[in-house]
Amino acid sequence: MTERRPFTKDLSRKEILEIKACTECRECLSVCPVQEVTDNPAISPPERLKMYREFINRTEGLKALVTGGEVDRKLLEDFTRAVFECTTCGACGEICPVGIDTQRLWPLLRREMVKRGIGPIGNQRDLPEVIRRTGNPYDQPPSERYSPWIPEGIPVKNKAEIAYYAGCTGAYQAQPMVKGDLLVLRAIGEPFTMLGPEDEVCCGFPLFITGQFQMLESLVKRLIDAYRSRGVGILLCSCPCCVNLMVRDWPRFYGSPLPFRIVHITQYVADAIRKGKLKIVDGLDENIIYHDPCYLSRGVGVIEEPREVLRAIPGAKILEFDRHGRNSRCCGAGGAARKIFHENAIAMGRLTIDEACEKGADKLVLSCPACYEKVNEAMKDHTGKVPIVDIMELLSRLI
Ligand code: SF4
Ligand code: SF4
Repeated sequence: MTERRPFTKDLSRKEILEIKACTECRECLSVCPVQEVTDNPAISPPERLKMYREFINRTEGLKALVTGGEVDRKLLEDFTRAVFECTTCGACGEICPVGIDTQRLWPLLRREMVKRGIGPIGNQRDLPEVIRRTGNPYDQPPSERYSPWIPEGIPVKNKAEIAYYAGCTGAYQAQPMVKGDLLVLRAIGEPFTMLGPEDEVCCGFPLFITGQFQMLESLVKRLIDAYRSRGVGILLCSCPCCVNLMVRDWPRFYGSPLPFRIVHITQYVADAIRKGKLKIVDGLDENIIYHDPCYLSRGVGVIEEPREVLRAIPGAKILEFDRHGRNSRCCGAGGAARKIFHENAIAMGRLTIDEACEKGADKLVLSCPACYEKVNEAMKDHTGKVPIVDIMELLSRLI
């Protein structure tokens, strides 16, 4: 089977220019976590972009007149595997001397393969149906979204200026993290609302990141209208993937600017500490190291606020990974690749654990449910051991 449809039709001029702009300097290979654990340049950014340029040339350029405008399916399958093995961490884009915004580009190129029925990979294909049926990508009962972890006595209002969105990964896979969020919110004491467990559906990120865009508009509209009807002016969330999609893509899928602001929980809590609304009572005489989630640091620039929160803990000494902030190394959980390319994800998670141990950290502090789930898994059967804690989980023990 061959493919003749144009490969640039749904890409912007900027994205097409980015695909053409790669100089094949290979700088990005030095920071790519997938390269670090696979050592396979055939799936690296320049190779991927070269393949995609070939698709464009064969179907739309001068070459199309000569070759008949066809791309062989095998080439498309090779490309699909390469682009889906990526964690979409964006480290390549950060170092790229021509400024290719890879964290944005890879999902769009994945979408091109989905349109052709070649992507996504494995059970990623089930995501739209699972989310349509259950409201979450984990095929879990919506009625149990909150019940296993929501603490007793959390005063959730029907309507409020502030709303809290737990997100599917936190609610079903990283419950100490979302529980910590609510305990800290309760301590701050400002009224907040939450949607009911059946109404707080997936933010759309798993569909976006696997290039399956069909349901995004309806999911996003459903959530935004629900928050709008509760009079929300600030939507708080701790999951970097949700926050990234909300800030960068929800307005596009909604068709207009959002009627509220999106705020990451660390931004809100840092502000509360600054204003004296949250007191940290207990200290921590320990070395703690904070891992920047790719979609939070590179994605939306939230880098200082988590550190500000940690610096407010009396006695705590903050260590840094060699690569931190915008240069953070992916923990392996990103890009919806962690289940399909499981071994890669585990190997990347262990690099993070090993560096935390080498630096002498007493605790590895995370701020992402996907990191939390994967790095914990990576530590099983691994020689390196360091206690892992979510930033709000840690804070909730000290207030
Ligand atoms: S986004 Fe991350 S994992 Fe993907 S190619 Fe770039 S550096 Fe490698
Ligand atoms: S750093 Fe940028 S220009 Fe260089 S090979 Fe990677 S993607 Fe291409």
